[in-house]
Amino acid sequence: MTATDLAERLRSRLDQAGAAGRTLAFWWRDDDAVAPTPALDRLLALAERHSVPLSLAVIPANAERSLADRLEPTGDVLVLQHGWAHKNHAPADRKSAELGDDRPLEAVLDELSRGHQRMSRMFGSRFLPVLVPPWNRISDSVAAKRVETGLPGLSCFKRLGTADRRLDTHIDPIAWRSGRTFAGWSTLADALDAEIDRRADDPTPIGILTHHLVHDEATWAFMETLLDVAAGHPAARWPHPVEAFGFVHT
Ligand SMILES: [Zn+2]
Repeated sequence: MTATDLAERLRSRLDQAGAAGRTLAFWWRDDDAVAPTPALDRLLALAERHSVPLSLAVIPANAERSLADRLEPTGDVLVLQHGWAHKNHAPADRKSAELGDDRPLEAVLDELSRGHQRMSRMFGSRFLPVLVPPWNRISDSVAAKRVETGLPGLSCFKRLGTADRRLDTHIDPIAWRSGRTFAGWSTLADALDAEIDRRADDPTPIGILTHHLVHDEATWAFMETLLDVAAGHPAARWPHPVEAFGFVHT
């Protein structure tokens, strides 16, 4: 399968939705930003060229002032809080997590509060108070208490249904266990098909999750292809994150 095949399949699904008087919503989250890099420039240019909003999950403890400066002239780029330091606290035999049950709850919440303060100071109104757990893992207790740290929003990976101030991601073009390379055109075309099928009776926006710092050329090509089709299609909507997370009612 090639980029053209994926583009045709996606276009035909959107055409069908349009013909049935329906629209499909998409949103885009990119993780792990801390500083301006050539890869970040490429990411921002891609979002701008296709006029879609981008939600950038920034690691508070490591974020550099130069990142805020770099984002200054950009349009629809929102910043979300990616944990505190992206540090694994899980024991060696468990999956990596910063916001798990491996430490006292107070210690985790203190870090999140510090992160919230730092993000607000650095990014001002560009910062949307949404917590993006590193490795997309968060314990129920941290999730329940996150609001007390100033973070009513939450975004993980793979979860259908609309919860208050929660918006997840569903499509990840990177095969993390196969050398962090592009997951493949047919894998992603199938994944997009499956997510579109699930939207038959669920309005949740389809979340695209990228990691600009590790993209190979094929991963960039996938994003280019997806946006070429879906950014300008009349049956595709790209709601603004402020609205999509339920921070304003339109
Ligand atoms: Zn991350």
